[in-house]
Amino acid sequence: MKQKQLEQYIKQYNKGFCDTSNYCFSLFAEAKRLKKCKKDMFDRDTYLHPAAKKAWKKMKKAAKKTGIKLKIISAFRSYDYQKQLIQNKLDKGLSIDDILKVNTLPGYSEHHTGCAIDIGAKNEAILEEEFDQSEAFYWLQQNAENFGFFMSYPKNNSTGISYEPWHWCYRK
Ligand SMILES: [Zn+2]
Repeated sequence: MKQKQLEQYIKQYNKGFCDTSNYCFSLFAEAKRLKKCKKDMFDRDTYLHPAAKKAWKKMKKAAKKTGIKLKIISAFRSYDYQKQLIQNKLDKGLSIDDILKVNTLPGYSEHHTGCAIDIGAKNEAILEEEFDQSEAFYWLQQNAENFGFFMSYPKNNSTGISYEPWHWCYRK
């Protein structure tokens, strides 16, 4: 899908939630190819883009050699999954404005690409800023780049998304 088509599609897709005309986050196309990975921390099936899976396996192995056990908290997420996530919160009575402070609309999550992983480690904070105090985070900072993984949302980033030390994305 071309960028213009994607924009139109996403606009239509989010019609029930809000008008995306002034929504300024980047759009991400859904991964066309995915490979099943090991189950995540919550025993759910996970999927990554084939290249990202390969790089993740290598990185995990290297970390393990130093005693750090990296785990997937969340990997690929489809548009439909993101839509359902938001719908569930609306059903609980939250407002769309409040929901969008912590979740992106379908189409705007880097997780759609199959290359982004929320990373956790044994006995460390899950999806909390405190994860940046962990040995695992320190290791990622030193080594992730060598495997093609980059932190998408460092402190004071310009994307409008808050600091996420757990969110890393594979870039070829
Ligand atoms: Zn993430």
